[in-house]
Amino acid sequence: MVEHSRREMSSEEFRHWGREVVDWLADYWEQVDRYPVQSQLSPGDVRCMLPESPPEDGEQFEALLRDVQEIIVPGLTHWQSPNFFAFFPANVSGPSVLGELLAAGLGVQGMLWATSPACTELETHVLDWLVDMLGLPRRFKSSGPGGGVIQDSASSATLCALLAARERASGMRCRDEGIGLPLVAYASTQAHSSVEKAAAIAGLGAGNLRLVQADEEFAMRADCLAQAVEEDRKAGRVPFFVCATVGTTSSLAVDPVSEIGRLCRRERLWLHVDAAMAGIAALCPEHRHLHDGLELADSYCVNPHKWMLTNFDCDCFYVADREPLLRALTVLPEYLRTVPSESGQVIDYRDWQIPLGRRFRALKLWFVIRYFGVAGLRRLVRTHVALAREFADWVSADPDFRLAAPPALNLVCFRHVRGDAANRELLERLNSSGQVYLTHTVLDGALALRLCVGQAQTERRHVLAAWELIRAVADGL
Ligand SMILES: *Cc1c(COP(=O)(O)O)cnc(C)c1O
Repeated sequence: MVEHSRREMSSEEFRHWGREVVDWLADYWEQVDRYPVQSQLSPGDVRCMLPESPPEDGEQFEALLRDVQEIIVPGLTHWQSPNFFAFFPANVSGPSVLGELLAAGLGVQGMLWATSPACTELETHVLDWLVDMLGLPRRFKSSGPGGGVIQDSASSATLCALLAARERASGMRCRDEGIGLPLVAYASTQAHSSVEKAAAIAGLGAGNLRLVQADEEFAMRADCLAQAVEEDRKAGRVPFFVCATVGTTSSLAVDPVSEIGRLCRRERLWLHVDAAMAGIAALCPEHRHLHDGLELADSYCVNPHKWMLTNFDCDCFYVADREPLLRALTVLPEYLRTVPSESGQVIDYRDWQIPLGRRFRALKLWFVIRYFGVAGLRRLVRTHVALAREFADWVSADPDFRLAAPPALNLVCFRHVRGDAANRELLERLNSSGQVYLTHTVLDGALALRLCVGQAQTERRHVLAAWELIRAVADGL
């Protein structure tokens, strides 16, 4: 029995329980395919098992771990299951989780360069690496006026992009004088909901975010965008921001970034490119075309926390020119003044994000890149893409099913031929079986099932079993 001091955890106790927790996680990962993928609990079930009040006296750590097993695990949806095909992946890995543990234990606040130089410099450096790894334009490197920063999520990145764009559009006066301009932003009908949220937070007014029509493959129509911009200008409004998506959430459609970028240059609009999941595929040269036209973008974001074995949160956000971003977000109360900051020689990342405090997230990203190497990460992408293609072939060859969108990268959108009610029932039965977890979307006004391959442990046998289950359940409809 390890001594329990009840004041702080002794290092002896920490070592002991630290090993136990790592062991527990290793066992969990080994057996995660045995759990029902989607939690089968009802609302309130977890809270029912928790005591009304917190304990007055400290408890043994053992009891905490026991409750994780008994109360928490049944209430989990197992995102790391090889049978998880829902939403988008959020894959994790040993090196990432150990990097996260170190970051937690070091407990540094990376808000300023001076509050932990390694936290800032490692982040700058690893984000420069990622520019080369993904074939991003050189203007996103820290050596010029641009650079990258880790945000908690793509949603925050898009909000920061919008705020920087607004500052630039106002001649750097918005910050001091308020909005004062009838600003209008644009994204396609297929853009992620975070664009709408960013517009809401920025106070644009819902009517001033135009959702531009998409084509039959769900990509933004650049001609419709041009038309909307022209109409807004004629009406005396001020177009200022376009969010293009590389890999939409519904169907992984890719907006025509080159064409949109040329329009943005002509019209002097800020172009933000949201490549949250699909951007990771550009690790592989055969998918680099995803980034065609990106040299015309003012900002870009991609999520290693989706498809690059890095546990949430880790979104990489790049700007081609940091000036408008800093102008929009820099605050300098006396208590945050430091000599290195005033020298202008260092980056203070608090000025590149909404919150002040920041975690040492670069550590886990650095661990992942070094442990797997670029080749290892590419292999993972290629495996997932090949599995999704094979699944799409099975769907195409089956007369009961149709593809609902062109299969793209690691995502297949498909539907049973018998219509929405049958598809809804199919999805419900699949997910309540606990053997797989898929989600749905609406494409062309009809329900479609989405199968997204992206978990670290997913192999061909899991995708095949999912297809066999889908077929069997569909036969019983
Ligand atoms: C998943 C996704 C997002 C949201 O990502 P968060 O990091 O969770 O905010 C935004 N855009 C696209 C295209 C996505 O696929």
